[in-house]
Amino acid sequence: MKLSYMTRKSLLYKTAVEYGDWTINHIEWCTHWCTFPCYAMMLAKRFWRIKTYDERREIRLVKNSLELLDKEIPKYRDQIKFVHMCFMTDPFMYDSKKKEVIPEVQTMTLNIIKKLNDNWIKATVLTKWLLPKEIIKMNLSKENEYGITLVSLNEKFRDRFEKYTSTYKERIASLKKLHDAGLKTRISMEPFPTPELDESLKNPKGFDKLLESISFVDKIIFGKLNYNVQVTQFKYSWDFYYDMADKVIEFCERRGIEYHIKQWTQRKYNEKTEKVFVTTKV
Ligand code: SF4
Repeated sequence: MKLSYMTRKSLLYKTAVEYGDWTINHIEWCTHWCTFPCYAMMLAKRFWRIKTYDERREIRLVKNSLELLDKEIPKYRDQIKFVHMCFMTDPFMYDSKKKEVIPEVQTMTLNIIKKLNDNWIKATVLTKWLLPKEIIKMNLSKENEYGITLVSLNEKFRDRFEKYTSTYKERIASLKKLHDAGLKTRISMEPFPTPELDESLKNPKGFDKLLESISFVDKIIFGKLNYNVQVTQFKYSWDFYYDMADKVIEFCERRGIEYHIKQWTQRKYNEKTEKVFVTTKV
């Protein structure tokens, strides 16, 4: 894996993602190589003429990220409720050859979280690799939220669609460590596959097992898989997603977990739950 560096003219921007606010992508491209397909990869192919996943795995770290934040935070501070990392890349990427986190990426991500918190801004982070235990020692804001993406427990599914991510077991364990240390945790359960793509969902108990494995978290986001022909060809995909969304809601309400079901995933969209990440104080 080759890490190179780049500079940018700006970093913070307001996202159009329904439950998002402001966001940062301080790395260009992504090593995880998800083939659901990955929305960021689709954009890269369309606008940046990237042709292969291999090209997109040659990542570039924005080396002037902290300097940019020093300029941009005072400018946008009053508009920001929280900053999410990341929608177009992964803040804790790893080197698939060495099978370890890329230290420069991790250090930059942790420094960005610290800088946001030092300026009274809450951070939310989401990874398909492992949340580092260093977070626990850093005395960061208790309002931050640490999340993993998790759509299955089936390692055969992972091998097919997100081969270069951490195993599900390790990913959940890294999140649980932060939860046990008193930090806020969440799951992004999207893009969620249909049973055609993940055999473990053919048995209803497969989904129950998945929910039980993350019953300790504070928040769950659930959303369907888009842009995949096999999903659109699956005759019962709408009913499947509506039923799964009902299960998530029932599970969360029973356990006192906050949740948001994304658009086009539940029978009647509830926009009130878009605000699950907002807090006023850091
Ligand atoms: S982790 Fe996210 S950005 Fe990276 S390849 Fe997977 S879906 Fe795309």
